[in-house]
Amino acid sequence: MNASDFAAWIRRAAELVTADAERLTALDAAIGDGDHGLNLARGFGAAVTALDGLPAGTTPGKVLIGAGRAIVSKTGGASGPLYGTALRRAGKTLGDAAEPDAAALGTALRAALDGVRELGGAGEGDKTMVDALAAAVTAYETAVDGGAGLPAAARAAATGAAEGAEATVPMVARKGRASYLGPRSAGHLDPGAASTVLLLRALADVTGG
Ligand code: ADP
Ligand code: MG
Ligand code: MG
Repeated sequence: MNASDFAAWIRRAAELVTADAERLTALDAAIGDGDHGLNLARGFGAAVTALDGLPAGTTPGKVLIGAGRAIVSKTGGASGPLYGTALRRAGKTLGDAAEPDAAALGTALRAALDGVRELGGAGEGDKTMVDALAAAVTAYETAVDGGAGLPAAARAAATGAAEGAEATVPMVARKGRASYLGPRSAGHLDPGAASTVLLLRALADVTGG
């Protein structure tokens, strides 16, 4: 994947979160404050605008760092800093590589997960985006270890994210706004986990996975 492929990923992610904004907001209305879709549509819209300002010949790392910075500054709510950190960490991890391979992207995705965990303090089982992202990263790494190329690994990550998100339904939230509901948060899909699925699906879409 070169810099324009990474920019295409962010653009596709923006399309998917905007198209699903109402569903994400409805999920958040059930166990949070009903703004997740709006937050992400605004944040990823700002990321797309930031991409337009990057110079020709930019690197994949700078694409992700620029998008992450825009998301942090324009997204309200807990999810903005978390997704922004994820993208900036991934971008930093890619360094100056012009065309990171499947393994390098795996290292970057792992760094994104570590960034979210450090910033938010959530682990797997706490009913957050971490459940979807951790499952996605594990599935990606397993695919690459088994010899998969980037498209197949990205598809595995998208499937893993969907499974990780689905697993949040019976969980009781221990982090974020949904944790205020205690046991009443069970029985609902976590909105951040649902949006993480869209971000990984966007990656699979642009790689042809
Ligand atoms: P807010 O709750 O501030 O309105 P959003 O609605 O945009 O923010 O995002 C809510 C989502 O953010 C949750 O569904 C959850 O996945 C994620 N989230 C919230 N707090 C944390 C945390 N500490 N660690 C990881 N993810 C979190
Ligand atoms: Mg919210
Ligand atoms: Mg909010």
